[in-house]
This record gives sequence, C-alpha cells and structure tokens, in this order.
Amino acid sequence: MKAFFSPHHAGHRPSQTFRHGRIVANRDLPTRAENILAALRADGHDLLNASAHGLKPIAAVHTPEYLDFLRIAWVEWRKIEGASEDVFPYIFPVRGMDNGYPSSIVGRAGYHMHDCWAPIGEHTWAVATDSANLAVEAAEQVLRGERAVYALCRPSGHHAFPDMGGGNCFLNNAAIATEHLRQRFRRVALIDVDVHHGNGSQGVFWRRDDVLFISLHRDPIDYHPYFAGHAHERGEGRGLGFNLNLPLPAGAGDEAFLAALETACARIATFQAEALVVSLGVDAHEEDPTAGLAVTFDGFRRIGARLAALNLPTVLVQEGGYNMDTIARCVAGALAGFEGRETTAA
Ligand code: ZN
Repeated sequence: MKAFFSPHHAGHRPSQTFRHGRIVANRDLPTRAENILAALRADGHDLLNASAHGLKPIAAVHTPEYLDFLRIAWVEWRKIEGASEDVFPYIFPVRGMDNGYPSSIVGRAGYHMHDCWAPIGEHTWAVATDSANLAVEAAEQVLRGERAVYALCRPSGHHAFPDMGGGNCFLNNAAIATEHLRQRFRRVALIDVDVHHGNGSQGVFWRRDDVLFISLHRDPIDYHPYFAGHAHERGEGRGLGFNLNLPLPAGAGDEAFLAALETACARIATFQAEALVVSLGVDAHEEDPTAGLAVTFDGFRRIGARLAALNLPTVLVQEGGYNMDTIARCVAGALAGFEGRETTAA
C-alpha cells in the first residue's frame, strides 16, 4: 500500500525522560522509524513523501494557544539561565490551581503538558508538524479513493489532547486524520491498538457522536496513563456511548486481544462507520520493553486482517513500539495481514 514517511523525523531526538522517579533514556529513538521504513521497503510498499498541507488540518484539532506554545517553547525555555536542553515541565495546574492561562514559559509548559514524558527539543515543533502532515496526506489519499494508506508518524500522537501533549506525543496525528476524513465521511471510527490507552484521542472526541473512539490497551489500573482508559469512560453529552474502552489484563496475549478486537469491530459495524483510522501502536508485542501485553508477531498479522475485513476506507497511523529488534516486523506484519499476504520482515 502507499506508505508516507518524512526524511526529517530524526531532528526530534529526545535524549531523556522521567520515569519512576529517575531520569532515564528516552525510548522514542529515530531508529524506530528507520527500522519500519526498511521493512516496508523490503515488503514492496509504495514509500512516498507527502505534499505540504499547512497548519489548517492541525488547527482543526488543536487550540491556537497550544500550537503557539509548541512553536516557541524551546526558544523561550532556553532563555532561562541554567535550563535543561529540552523543555521539561515540572509544575502543573492540578486540582484547584487552575487560575487562567499563564504567561511565563514554565507556567505554559505545565499548562500544556500533562506529564514529564514528552521533552520538547529544538526541532520538535518542525518534526511534529511534519509527522501530522503525513497523517493528513494519508487521509487526503483516502478521500481521493485509496482503499488504505499508512502514515509512518514519528513522534506519535495518541496521547495529545487539543491543548496538551504528553507521553512522547505533541500533535494527535490520528485525530487529525480522523477530522480530515470527516470532510466526506459522515461517521468515522478511530480504533487504537497501542498498548497504552489513547487518552488524547479520547479527549479530542469525548463529546462527539460523529466519531466513534475505541481503545484496546493494558488496564490502566496499574499502568500508564493511569487516569484514563477505564471501561466506565463512555463519553459525555452527544458523545455518550461513542467512546469504548476495552482494557485488558496485564500480559494478555493474542486470543484475549483478538476477542476484544471482535467486540470493537461489532461496535464499529453498529455505528455504521464510513471510514476507519487505526492508531497502530505495536508496543503490545510480547517483547516490547513497555511490558504491558503479550501479542505475538502472528497476532499483529491477525489484527491487520481483522481490521481489513471491516472493508472500510482506512488510514493507518503509526503510534508506539519501542523494541528496535521487533517493531519493524510487528508493523510490517500488521500491514501484510491487512493486505492478506505475508511479510518478509524477520
Ligand atoms: Zn504506547
């Protein structure tokens, strides 16, 4: 299938992150995308650069204040004497402390980032907009009649809300693609198979009945993102019933995942979706360092095949996946499964 990638993604190279009270190496390495690209090339996919679509499709999902923050954050942060190389928020407007929009860059960082897992570097804004542009291009291709198109987005997007980033996500690529598809398709389903709940995507469409959001993920009762992804979260207002969370127990494998996917597909059918967006994280793999679930290579092939059987115009957007030895085979396997063939990736 057509697969869009950006040659500039490596400009976003976060060196560290904050986990379990320690500064540790960041897992969102450029190698992730390079490995996927090599595997898709070997499998004969049509690898393409995207046309520039500008900020309008991105601004359809994200607020002006947030986009302005992302654009200027690194330059403003570096003006602070002794500041870290990347923007790292460390104080947040939590319960009872929300007193309007802050003016200082430290305040804005805490206002617009919901955790310490998405450091902003010198080139993050450029690379994140490039990544989102791939999702827009994929959606544009589907609007023009392509059956299925893949966007090799890096950084990922599904933890990004309209006005907040986090979890190595800045712009919600899948939500942007979904919104773009709404130009033509009346009802669009967004399904997220990343091991982590797509809290940002849920936030974007929480009150919407024209977009069905479904997330399959490890139960957040003791796993990131902790504060979202529970089964009782079903949407609000017009959106009530159009948000479906399917949390899975720690270490669940192919059969449990595929059974939940069956539930998801049944809901997509009753929703009468006209198009589909897939947040294709592959960190549910059994050897991923995020250690959430235990989906196998064959599991990803079956996930791809099951999603293809929905027979909908489909945009597949890359999300997580952090084992450099397995990520490419998981993604290539899912796309091969979608197309009903085998991958050569090993
Ligand atoms: Zn993930």
